[in-house]
Amino acid sequence: MSDIETLIKEINSFRDERDWRQFHNPKDLALSLSLEAAELLENFQWKTSKEAVQTNLEDIKDEIADVLVYSLMLCSDLDVDPLKITQAKLKKNKENYPVGKAKGNKAKYSEL
Ligand SMILES: [Mg+2]
Repeated sequence: MSDIETLIKEINSFRDERDWRQFHNPKDLALSLSLEAAELLENFQWKTSKEAVQTNLEDIKDEIADVLVYSLMLCSDLDVDPLKITQAKLKKNKENYPVGKAKGNKAKYSEL
């Protein structure tokens, strides 16, 4: 079993022990993922990146983990492999942002 599969199993055990799957439809999981991403952003509000990381690193780590937990719950419930979909998206990103055009360039792929 891969590390990601083991992690998903642990996450599913956590929510099953609490009988929370009844609340976990894809819409509410996606909504919760977005809320956790907003909590991550809250750590950076009114600070430079450096200030935020210096003062809020523990909270930042917690919120990154919350985003990952909701992402992995969505993957589990939609029966998609997080490794495969991330690799597939990276492949698309490589096609959209060829090194020859994108290196050192922050423009969106449609502007390259
Ligand atoms: Mg949170």
